[in-house]
Amino acid sequence: GWLDGRSALVTGGASGIGRAVVERFLAEGARVAVLDASAENIAALRKDLPDVVVTEGDVSSFEDNERAVAATVAAHGGLNTFVGNAGIFDYFAPVATTPGATLSGSFDEIFSVNVKGYLLGVKASLPALLESSSPSIVFTLSNGAFLPAGGGSVYTASKHAAVGLIRQLAYELAPRVRVNGVAPGGTLTDLRGASALGQAETSLRDAANFPDLVRATNPLGIVQQPADHTGSYVLLASPENAAAISGVVINSDGGMQVRGLAQAAGGADL
Ligand code: NAD
Repeated sequence: GWLDGRSALVTGGASGIGRAVVERFLAEGARVAVLDASAENIAALRKDLPDVVVTEGDVSSFEDNERAVAATVAAHGGLNTFVGNAGIFDYFAPVATTPGATLSGSFDEIFSVNVKGYLLGVKASLPALLESSSPSIVFTLSNGAFLPAGGGSVYTASKHAAVGLIRQLAYELAPRVRVNGVAPGGTLTDLRGASALGQAETSLRDAANFPDLVRATNPLGIVQQPADHTGSYVLLASPENAAAISGVVINSDGGMQVRGLAQAAGGADL
């Protein structure tokens, strides 16, 4: 496989896109570790994939990130790729109608996971990455990292902020570490919202119109599944395939950036 013998740590790897990345990295020959906060998702992961090294913890805690890195290095002897992926959503909470205190709480909570979680994961991983060959970092972004209406203001701002992290880290850590991102479009997962918004139990899976919505928003007219994105992570983590790639984001969203104004796809009659 493209990742034979390489060691990776994936945050939020017990569900959805992260778990699909874990499965694909294993299939490509990597040894994989996970940091995730959900005991329930972790139990399922341990049952299905007993070789994965799992740490239960919160990505917004530096200590939990350090524990996950230590467990990864202890089991695998090193760390070649850190995948920052754990995230939460805001279910489009509008600024105009969300109470001020709620908006404030949702900002702190969502930025803690979606932005601080990536930053602290990198900080905790860096000593091990610098000791390893051809190290790399990959972040999960979103169409919301570039376009409005993929979430509310807080989610959109958090994903835009993660683009800034990619650019700054790609600069600061060069030439030793390559830093890139994958930006999925709407994908069928269990993605949860912020507790501050009362959305801790809200899941994309429960939104009956979500598949139709996703299909309508991208020119390729596809409903994205977690596995659809994993090839981009393999590419960016692979020294052979991405030796010259740093500071970029792969949009894995069915072509949302070339969506037509009157109709999503211009070649519908082809
Ligand atoms: P998911 O809920 O299926 O998986 C996310 C995992 O992260 C869960 O196992 C959860 O327990 C874990 N997690 C959440 N908060 C955590 C924390 N504080 N500490 C540790 N683990 C935590 O959702 P998903 O859709 O696979 O989300 C993964 C990433 O993909 C997120 O960054 C999300 O913003 C991004 N994304 C999702 C979509 C989509 O439509 N599903 C689209 C674009 C981007």
